[in-house]
Amino acid sequence: MAKIKQVAITGGTHGNELTGVHLLKHWRSDPTEVARSSFKTELHLANPKANACNRRYVDQDLNRQFNVEDLNNHELCGYEHNRAKSLNSLLGPKEDPRVDFIIDLHTTTANMGMSLIFNTDDPFVVGMAFYVQQKMPHATLFFDPIERMKDSFLTSMGRHNGFLIEAGAVPQGLLRADIYLETKEAVEHCLDYIEAFNTGTVPELPETREVYQFGDKVKLPENEQGELTAMVHPKLQDQDYQPIKTGDPLFLTLAGETLPYEGEETVYGAFINEAAYYDAHVGLSFMTKTQISLKR
Ligand SMILES: [Zn+2]
Repeated sequence: MAKIKQVAITGGTHGNELTGVHLLKHWRSDPTEVARSSFKTELHLANPKANACNRRYVDQDLNRQFNVEDLNNHELCGYEHNRAKSLNSLLGPKEDPRVDFIIDLHTTTANMGMSLIFNTDDPFVVGMAFYVQQKMPHATLFFDPIERMKDSFLTSMGRHNGFLIEAGAVPQGLLRADIYLETKEAVEHCLDYIEAFNTGTVPELPETREVYQFGDKVKLPENEQGELTAMVHPKLQDQDYQPIKTGDPLFLTLAGETLPYEGEETVYGAFINEAAYYDAHVGLSFMTKTQISLKR
C-alpha cells in the first residue's frame, strides 16, 4: 500500500460536540502536536454554522451526507447538503480524493467511553484500531462495514475509509477536560501509527480483537400522537456494551411500568439514551459482539 501523505482531522461535524471543535482551536495554535515527519496534517471545522448555533445540524445531519450519489445530487440543497459538497471539493472528490485519511472527532451523551469506529476491514485501518487499543486498553472497537462509495460518513471522504473517534459520556454543548484529554490522546496515537506505517516501524499487533457491530435501532415507546411514553430504564442507563438478555429491563413508562427486552438472543446496547437520537425517538442500538482479524 502507498504511503499516507495527507491526513485531515475534522471536528464539529456535529456542531454541538465541542471537544473536537476546541481540539482544532488548540492545534491551530500549536500545529507541532499534530505534525509528523512523513505526512501533512490539515485541520477542518466541518460544520461552522451549526457550531455557531450550538446545534447538531442546521437542516440535516452532516454526517449522513457523504455517499457519492447524494454528493452528486444537486437537488439536495439544504445547508448540510451544500456543506458536504464543499467538503467534497476541499477533501475529495469522493471518487479520487486528495486527502488520504480522515480522523473525525465526535462525542456522545451515552456512556460509551472511548469508542473507535471504523467502517472497513482494510488492514491499515484495522491495524490503527488495534494500535490505539493497545495504547488505550479501555477503548472499544466499533466496526460498521460499508463500501466507501456508499458510506455516508465524513470519514469516507479520504482515499482510505477513515476513523471516527466517539468519546462520552458528555452532554451536548459541553466541554469536559477528561473527554478532551482522552480524545487528544487517541488522535496522537492515530498519528503515531500513521507515522510508523509510513516508516515501516509498526510494532507487533494482536491478530484478532473483539468488535461490536450495529444490529437494530430500538425506538422509545410512543403514543398515537407520537409523544414519548417511556424512558430508558434506570437499570439500562449508562450500561453501554453490557449484555442485554431476555427479560432484562429496557424502558420505564411514565407511569412506572418496566418494559423488558423480549428477544431471545443476547445483545449489547450502545448509544443508550443518546440525546442526539431523540429527534427520531431512538432509545438505543442493539449490537452484536464478534471478532475482527488483522489480515496481513
Ligand atoms: Zn457526532
